[in-house]
Amino acid sequence: MEEDITTDLCVLQSHLDSMLDRVQQNSLTLKRFQVFEMKLLNLNSLSEMIDQLLEDAKTFFDLDVISFCLVDEKGEISGFLNDDDYDYQSNDGFILLEDQELLKSKFGQSPCPFLGAYKQSNCAGFFQNLDRKPVSVAIIPLSRRRKFLGSLNFGSYTPNRFVNAMATDFIEHLASVVSICLENNLNFEMMRRTSLIDTLTGVNNRRFLEQRIGEELDRSQRLDEPLSCLFLDIDHFKSINDSYGHQVGDYVLALVAGAIKEQLRSNDILARYGGEEFVALLSNIPEIMACDIAERIRQSIKDLPLMNNEQDFNVTISIGLATYQPSRSPSISSAEIATHLIHSADSALYLAKKNGRDRVSNGDLVYDAVARSLKAS
Ligand code: GH3
Ligand code: MG
Ligand code: MG
Repeated sequence: MEEDITTDLCVLQSHLDSMLDRVQQNSLTLKRFQVFEMKLLNLNSLSEMIDQLLEDAKTFFDLDVISFCLVDEKGEISGFLNDDDYDYQSNDGFILLEDQELLKSKFGQSPCPFLGAYKQSNCAGFFQNLDRKPVSVAIIPLSRRRKFLGSLNFGSYTPNRFVNAMATDFIEHLASVVSICLENNLNFEMMRRTSLIDTLTGVNNRRFLEQRIGEELDRSQRLDEPLSCLFLDIDHFKSINDSYGHQVGDYVLALVAGAIKEQLRSNDILARYGGEEFVALLSNIPEIMACDIAERIRQSIKDLPLMNNEQDFNVTISIGLATYQPSRSPSISSAEIATHLIHSADSALYLAKKNGRDRVSNGDLVYDAVARSLKAS
C-alpha cells in the first residue's frame, strides 16, 4: 500500500517537473519573442526591417527556409531601397511583387496564415530562387486596412513542422506586429521623400539641397575632388505667365526641370531653389567640364519644343557657375563654403542676365582660402 502511494507520488512529481519545465521553456520563448518584437519596433528603415526579418526570424523560429514578399504596385518600394543603396536584388529571400494577385489567389479575402505541405502550384511564388524547396510551410499574410502588404514565409524540410491543425495564435500575433511595423516604415520612407521633393517639378526642393550640400562638400574635401555648382534661372519667365497664363507657366517649369535633369548624371543633385530658379551640384566635375555641361543644358532648354493652343514657343535659361576646389587642410566649415559657393554661382548668374540672358557665365573658383578671407572681411 505504502509502496503504491510512493510510486504514485513519484509519477506525480515527474509530471509536475515536466510541466514546470514546459512553463519555464514557454516563458523563455515568450521573453525571446518580446526581444525580437522590440527590435522590430525600433528599426529605422525598410532595409533594416528586411534584414532583421530574414536573419533574426530564421534563427528565432529555427527555420530551414525563410522569405519575405512585399507588394510594390507603384514601384515606390524599389525606389526607396535603391535610394538607400540597398542591393535587394541580390537578397534571395526578398521578393518584390508587382501586385496583390499572388496573395489574393492564395488567401482570398481572409488574411489567415496557411500552414501545411509545400505545393509547387500554389507555394512556388512565395519561395523563389531556392536550390532546395521546403516540405512544409507557413505562409503568413501581412495586411493593413484590408489591403495585402506582403507575406512572411517560413519553410521546413521536416513534413510535420507546419501542419494544418496547428494553432496559429502566435503566428497571427507576429503577422500583426510585422504589418504595423511595415506600414510605419513605408509611411516614414514616403514622408521623408515627399518632404524633400518639389511637387510641381518632381525634382528635389531647397530643403534637400541645404541638407545635402554639406555632405557633398565633405565628400569633395575627403576625396580631394572639385564640386561644381550651377545656378539656373529661366529668362523672362514672368512674361510666359503673362502671355499664356499661370497653368502654362507651371507646365513649362516642369518640362524645364525634366530637361535639366536629363542632362545630369543620376548621382548629381538638382533642386528647385525658388520660383523659376534651380541649383545643380555636380560632384567631381572640374570647372571646364561644368562649363560644357551648363552649355549643353542651355542649348537643350532653347531646343525644348513648347506648345500652347497650337502655337509654338520657346524659353531660354541663364546659368551661373562656380566650382569649389578643396585644399588639403580646410580651415572653415562646409556650411561656410556652401554659402560662398552658392553666392558665387548666383553672382555669375547675375552677370549672365546682365550680359543678355540665354548664356552661361563662369564665376569664381572657390578655394577654402578665398572663402576664409571673405569671412574675415
Ligand atoms: P529674368 O529673366 O530676369 O529672370 O526674368 P523673370 O521674369 O524670369 O524673373 P522675375 O523674377 O521677374 O519673375 C519670376 C516669375 O516666376 C514671377 C512669378 O510669378 C513666376 N513664378 C514663380 N513661381 C512660379 C510657379 O510655381 N508657377 C508659375 N507659373 N510661375 C511662377
Ligand atoms: Mg527668371
Ligand atoms: Mg528668378
